[in-house]
Parts: sequence; structure tokens; C-alpha cells
Amino acid sequence: MTYYPGRAVVDLDAIAANVGWLRECAPTAQVMAVVKGDAYGHGLVPAARAALRGGATWLGAAQVPEALALRAAGITAPVLTWLYGPGAPLTEVLRSDIDISAPAPWALAEIADAARTTGRTARLHVKVDTGLGRGGSFLDTWTEMLGEAMRLQAEGLVRLVGVWSHLARADEVDHPSVREQLAVFTEAVHRAENAGATLEVRHLANSAATISLPEVHYDLVRPGIAVYGLSPMPVTHPSPQVGLTPAMRLEADLHVVKSAAPGQGVSYGHTYTTSYPTTLATVPLGYADGIPRRASNAAPVQVAGQQVRIAGRVCMDQFVLDVRELPVAAGDTAVLFGSGSQGEPTAQDWADAVGGISYEIVTQIGPRVPRVYT
Ligand code: PLP
Repeated sequence: MTYYPGRAVVDLDAIAANVGWLRECAPTAQVMAVVKGDAYGHGLVPAARAALRGGATWLGAAQVPEALALRAAGITAPVLTWLYGPGAPLTEVLRSDIDISAPAPWALAEIADAARTTGRTARLHVKVDTGLGRGGSFLDTWTEMLGEAMRLQAEGLVRLVGVWSHLARADEVDHPSVREQLAVFTEAVHRAENAGATLEVRHLANSAATISLPEVHYDLVRPGIAVYGLSPMPVTHPSPQVGLTPAMRLEADLHVVKSAAPGQGVSYGHTYTTSYPTTLATVPLGYADGIPRRASNAAPVQVAGQQVRIAGRVCMDQFVLDVRELPVAAGDTAVLFGSGSQGEPTAQDWADAVGGISYEIVTQIGPRVPRVYT
């Protein structure tokens, strides 16, 4: 079937070019393109391939099934997976030559078991929580894990190839917490090297740090959002997105276009009422497709070359535009967001309109919306 009332058009060349620009930002590091969350909604495998074409040499997949899906698609580049709980299929991870993170002591035991079962040596990245307070272990526990990892390495069950961490506030330029995290990270790396580890990759930098904090680049940077051309910084910061092109354009064809009299309530709850003779147009995307209900009466959409705001509430499958006197007809294309190069809103504009972040705007686009690649 090729009929799709709404579609996310993904520019794979933009993804490749964005990675190329990120490589220039971190010329001494390798780039791991983070492709978790279905490549931030852009489509796991096509986006991963485009990122590799642009010069990424690693792929970062949070969940184990995402990492396995990359291998199932025939992608052979190094892949790191880091988000799993007890009982995850680590034997499959090892058989698929996927690098694995140990976020907590229990994980080391499971990785060792998987190595014994498969006869493979696990390529291990031990994650230190340098201050995010999320995955990984704080330095004392991490140091105990380091000792255990070196014992497992001596048995041939693991090879400690990476020490890594994640920043809490890299998007806040000059925030002291970055230095604090960096100091803990430096100490962890020091301890690993003193313990005899020959590390291949030390990695800490997300998109914001890749773009603006060279001191945390180390051997490998892990940009996510910037790969897809969106800025990791709050809009108030100086424009870091130079060199980035948003890769996703979300569009849909207008269904019903009809005249309405003044005083017409629009959509559930009548939270919008027309105040002049006008034209209403329905757009066939709704919260079942990942359009935030918070976009009701708020988010901008481009029709006939002009931006108008959504009128009334976003419904499950559709929302309404009050297009006034714009020359629109059923079948015309409405652009919800895109690169901005044709005067359309961007995902950042949507994020600003709904009080969110661009990450959730693109990542939440649902499976009912086909990704179409250009
Ligand atoms: N590294 C890890 C561990 C992550 O969880 C993420 C995403 O949150 C990234 C890198 C990429 O972050 P960003 O999309 O801000 O570049």
C-alpha cells in the first residue's frame, strides 16, 4: 500500500551531513551515533546506515532488542547496548558481537554467565555514575566492579574496553556540574588504567558536549539528537545548530475543507470558536500518531505557504486548522514541522509551543505514520 494520509519524510542525506558536521566538532574522537528510540523516531536501520555513511563508526542502542535489530539488518559496525535488566538475552548479545555496558554489579555476573555459555569474551564498558544519578554505579561501587571486571578479564570471560558515563547538564553552557562530573570520570579512567585495563574508548559526551565541550570528547562522542539535526540546547542559548539540518518533515494531506460561520465551536469541548466567516480544514494526524494533545490551540502548521495555529483540541486521529482565507483544498499538504527552510515550523517550534523538548516531538511520532525516505 502506498496511500498514507500522514507521513514522516526523513532526509537521510541530512542525517549523514549532520554526522559529518559533528565529526568536525570532535575531530579527535570517533562518533557513536545514538539510534535508540527507533533513531529518535526516524527509523532505526535507515537512520543508522545514514549515520554510518556520514562517518559514524559506532552505533549506540539503548535497549538490547534495538541492538539486535541492527545486527539482524546486517549492520556490522560496532554497537553498544546499555539498557537491560536481569534476565536479558545476553547470550544473544555476545553471539551478535555487540558491546555491552555493565550498569550495576548484578550485570557483571550475568555477563560472565553469558560468556561461559557462549564461549565468547564479552566486550565490556563499565558505566560510572559521575553525577547524573541514573544508570551506572557511583565511584566506590564502580571501583569494586572494576576489580571484578579485571578478575573476569583474567579468566577470559570479558575484555574491559570502555569506561563511560553520561552528563546531566551539558546543555547548560558553563554549568559547574560538568566539571564535577568530568573530575569523577577522570578519576574512574585513572583507576581503570592503574588496574591494568587497556581501554579502547572512554566516552562521556552527548550532543551538547560534542558541540560545545571539547574537553569531554575523549575517544568517542555519543551524539543523539544532533544526528537528526535538532539542537540539544534550550532555544535561549547561542545558536549551536549551525551545520545541522533537521532530518524529519511531518506532513499530512488535508481531508475536509469547509466554510464555517462566525461563532462555530471547533473540536471536542469547543475550546476554539471562529470569530469571522472562515474555512476549517482537517489534518488526519492525532494523538494516536504522537501529536501531543498539548498542541491543542498552540502548535503551528504550514498550509499554502503560511503558518496557522491548530484550532481546538487535537483528537485521536485528526485536528483542525482555521485557515481563514488561505487558498486550500482537500488533498493539499499541511506541514506540521520540517527543516524550516521553506518557512515551515520546526520540531523545536512545536516543542516551544507545547512546553516540551524537540526530542519528544520527533520520538513520539507513532508507528501508524510511515517513515518515507528521501
Ligand atoms: N548517551 C546516552 C547514554 C544517552 O542516554 C543519550 C540520550 O539521552 C545520548 C548519549 C545522546 O544524548 P543526546 O540526544 O542529548 O545527544
